[in-house]
Amino acid sequence: MIIELPKEFTFFNETGEIGAYVENGILKLKSATSYRKVMTELTYHMKGRKRCCYCGNIVDVEEMTIDHMYPQDFGGPTITNNLLPCCKKCNNEKGNLTSKQYKMYLIAKKQGRGKEYIEDLKKYLLYIRKWEAFEIPKGWISKKEITKIIVQIDLGDSYKGKNYKKVKEFYEKYGHFQKPIIVDSNNFLLDGFITLMYAKNKNIQKVPVIVLKNVEVIT
Ligand SMILES: [Zn+2]
Repeated sequence: MIIELPKEFTFFNETGEIGAYVENGILKLKSATSYRKVMTELTYHMKGRKRCCYCGNIVDVEEMTIDHMYPQDFGGPTITNNLLPCCKKCNNEKGNLTSKQYKMYLIAKKQGRGKEYIEDLKKYLLYIRKWEAFEIPKGWISKKEITKIIVQIDLGDSYKGKNYKKVKEFYEKYGHFQKPIIVDSNNFLLDGFITLMYAKNKNIQKVPVIVLKNVEVIT
């Protein structure tokens, strides 16, 4: 997929070096730069850092957060197309709802049936968990053999931290991964190392992947 990018953008690392930039419609990302941080900064750059995209209020810098329109819990990736600047209050209230569900909830709340809306939605979300896995546009996802994905860090097969346990438990319970992994145009891994590690350990050949065609990791 193609992610939303501004015409011009430069991201500086904490050391003051350039960590990422946009050139001819391609986001060039230095391999040591935090991918998530760059996505956040790109979002602020394009969508502003002053106003909450849900309630419309002017927000102080420390009250500003980044919302995943399709929530991370249901596969929502950290890419500009899925991110919105919003205030802490709205972000907390929205929780695991999609932007659309949240807007419908706000209408229901106004009409005094907010609780009913959430109750109905819970049943639907349970269905999603069991059968669909993700609640993101189908066109974003493809499947890729794990041997095709390029990884720079090697945590080793013995890595079994808290996040690994989470991935494992979810997979054992629902039979699929909670979120797709993200790679650049050359299949370089950007997000989802633990998922990949688990797939490798369990001998799962193919994983759900989002390929960012206009992103390129550079050294
Ligand atoms: Zn708000």
